[in-house]
Amino acid sequence: MRTVEEHLATVLAMAERAAPVRQPVSTEPVVLADDLAATLPVPPFDNSAMDGFAVRAADVADVPTRLRVVGDIPAGTAPTRTVHPGEALRIMTGAPMPKGADAVVPVEDTDQPVGDVPVPAHVEVRASVQPGRHVRRMAEDVGVGDVVLRAGTRVSPAVVAAAISVGVGEWSVIPRPRVAVLSTGSELVAAGVRPGPGQIPDSNGPMLAGLVEQFGGVVTAMLRVDDDPAGMRAAMDQLGDVDVVVTTGGVSAGAFEVVRQATGEHVDFVTVAMQPGKPQGIGRWSVGDRQVPLLAFPGNPVSVFVSSWLFLQPLIAAMQGLPAQWPSLELPAAEGWRSPVGRRQYAPVRIVDGAVLPAHRLGSGSHLVASLHLADGLAVVPQEVERVEPGDVVRVHRTDGAWGGTPGT
Ligand code: AMP
Ligand code: MG
Repeated sequence: MRTVEEHLATVLAMAERAAPVRQPVSTEPVVLADDLAATLPVPPFDNSAMDGFAVRAADVADVPTRLRVVGDIPAGTAPTRTVHPGEALRIMTGAPMPKGADAVVPVEDTDQPVGDVPVPAHVEVRASVQPGRHVRRMAEDVGVGDVVLRAGTRVSPAVVAAAISVGVGEWSVIPRPRVAVLSTGSELVAAGVRPGPGQIPDSNGPMLAGLVEQFGGVVTAMLRVDDDPAGMRAAMDQLGDVDVVVTTGGVSAGAFEVVRQATGEHVDFVTVAMQPGKPQGIGRWSVGDRQVPLLAFPGNPVSVFVSSWLFLQPLIAAMQGLPAQWPSLELPAAEGWRSPVGRRQYAPVRIVDGAVLPAHRLGSGSHLVASLHLADGLAVVPQEVERVEPGDVVRVHRTDGAWGGTPGT
């Protein structure tokens, strides 16, 4: 049996970082290939933080005082008029500050009503303002040339907002690895189909597809095949242009292990000292003229979940040039559970009031698929431990949130 670390090293040895491509800025969760510097300052010009009146602070040192309103500055227009002593310009939030003015008096601190009213001839100012008050200074957030986003950042909606705000419309990114997902098993039926005798719904395929997306990959093929090696090989020849192949089922010691039979000498079948997920296949598969990594997971859904977090997530990260990392924390066990000696257990656990308990009362059984969704993470139980006792501290890797693949986090 090999250790999880040894198996992971074999997986990562197959990872090749994809070449960057240029594409329009979008929220597709790709990874930035280069540092991005601002081509526009943020804010792009001095502007008002309030709806109100642009004034000279010195004019409103003593209040109340009356100023002549010499015009209006709606957002999206450039002011042409200078504010001279004794004058004000009505200004809206985000509109550029006019020359001469050095502060904004919010409309609430004047005699003017809020809302859609004609610009008045005069305004009575009832509160003084310091110079600079309610003015957002040009470049106070970011100056031109400042690096706002680092290479290796995974794109999120806020990343998109940052890039667009500094004038970026196109960027170089490491594309998402394209992943083919194959569920094997003659017992499998599609979601929602009532299973016949001996049949079960294929929950692995859709779960794995979702995990691929969660890890930053993109699923370009999702297939279900019977325990028939010729049929499986035919399906494997139709995967299209993919970067990774992941199969479930058909790798253990049964009589009809289709993945073993169909992939032949291209894949090594090994045992890994983990529970669940002991039987694993790993190799390369020819896709056109390329050899892409193939991970063959066992069929039990909890094994698929654990194997995906342990091996597929780091593989996808590495193919995007990101370090393998999986944040963990140490928490006490609220309840005890059993663990097999000689294999490291990854037990689906809930985190309740700062302590962990098994997501299912039967522990980490690899078939307990319907309670897997209750898990906030996987508790790691060392291989020599036979039983986790209440109060024992265990390391827990979270599996609930999206995995943040940004360097330094
Ligand atoms: P296998 O590794 O093919 O022997 O499968 C192990 C167990 O997982 C069996 O009970 C299968 O019925 C079950 N299983 C295999 N594939 C799937 C799947 N795609 N969805 C749900 N359960 C599965
Ligand atoms: Mg099977």
